[in-house]
Amino acid sequence: MEPYFTFFRKLNYTKKQYSSFALIFFTILFANQSIHSQTVVEQYGRLQVNGSHVTAENGDKISLAGMSLFWSNAGDGGDFYNSETVNHLADDWKNPIIRAALGVKETWDGGTGYIDNTQAQKAKIRTVIDAAIAKGVYVIIDWHTHAAEVYKDEAVAFFTEMAELYGNNDHVIYEIYNEPINQSWNDVKNYAADVIAGIRSKDPDNLIIVGSPTWSQDVDQAAADPITGDPNLAYTLHFYANTHKQFLRDRALAAMNSGIALFVTEWGTTDASGNGGYNEQESEIWLNFMIDNHISYVNWTVAHKNEDSCVVSPGMGVQGLINGNLTTSGIFIRNHLIARAEALSVDDFSIDNVKLSLDQNPVKDILSINSSIVIDNLIIFDMTGRSVFSKNVNQDNPKINITNLNSGNYILKVNSKKAFTSTKFVKL
Ligand code: MG
Repeated sequence: MEPYFTFFRKLNYTKKQYSSFALIFFTILFANQSIHSQTVVEQYGRLQVNGSHVTAENGDKISLAGMSLFWSNAGDGGDFYNSETVNHLADDWKNPIIRAALGVKETWDGGTGYIDNTQAQKAKIRTVIDAAIAKGVYVIIDWHTHAAEVYKDEAVAFFTEMAELYGNNDHVIYEIYNEPINQSWNDVKNYAADVIAGIRSKDPDNLIIVGSPTWSQDVDQAAADPITGDPNLAYTLHFYANTHKQFLRDRALAAMNSGIALFVTEWGTTDASGNGGYNEQESEIWLNFMIDNHISYVNWTVAHKNEDSCVVSPGMGVQGLINGNLTTSGIFIRNHLIARAEALSVDDFSIDNVKLSLDQNPVKDILSINSSIVIDNLIIFDMTGRSVFSKNVNQDNPKINITNLNSGNYILKVNSKKAFTSTKFVKL
């Protein structure tokens, strides 16, 4: 058999031509790899209430972390209702879920809210919904008011129209009452019944989220007397880390234990006013609480008003967001979202077409692997590729104690008799 080089020499290609062939080969190779990356909505499907959790469509427990836009009727929030914002948050911040806060009517809005300026506000909201769907991220359509029952007819008409337009898209989530204040839970329930009926006349299955009294903190009242008859309904929980602390986490957990699912559609790193009191330590406690309890959460807010809870530096606009002119809170939240995305990125974590999964990710103490096939051994590598842990387990569904690992990103390699697979996880 003649040597390869003799064979190629006979083809009479120049060195330059060989370089071109190599370039084409690698381009095809890498292009192929990028084609198969899934969007977040393809990954998790239509969000679904299962018991006291909002889960992926297949029932997997999740905790999505994302961003809320500011009041759509507020000039000082900056005009972030555009595809540039949605795309930048998705690509650079790894933001899987965005909330469009439709300002309904406020004394300060100069007639720019939805009630007084319906078509313009609807166009703003639809721009964000369309951009989110194009990007493959979730979008919460939020009726942003403290007096939704006053505008119930408009809410029914609006959400029915949105359900008809977008109900076939798994991306869309309806938040029908942002924050009641002094209204009774019964007032909220009566309002919700009519809006839910409107949505369900067009869309039988996308997630609906309902607020509760006292700025959506009284989830205990919702838990004691939940709305019945709809299989895909969750309840809003709002908190601001420097104002609402352990008492509200206790209340949230009690509500979940009694069987309702929570969704934090708004939370801030600051005082409840949105301004002052930036509290990173308490924010971390809340973030760990929500991750541990599989609650999804959306941060307030993508805006450039001169308030500490805004993520863009005052007055810097969309270009400020894109160029990284961020506030202290903005830097903290962006880093958190990127770390969460790292933790949630899934490779094909399977052996012989049997899907494996981690019970929790990020994880603090016990790494618990769901596997219906017997695992021989486990190896954990740090991100430099150094092996930091190894154990023979010889069982299905192994659990290992990783308390001694430093916080950070790791790769878990799982070996069975037949083959091996790996996935990434974050140690808290
Ligand atoms: Mg649907």
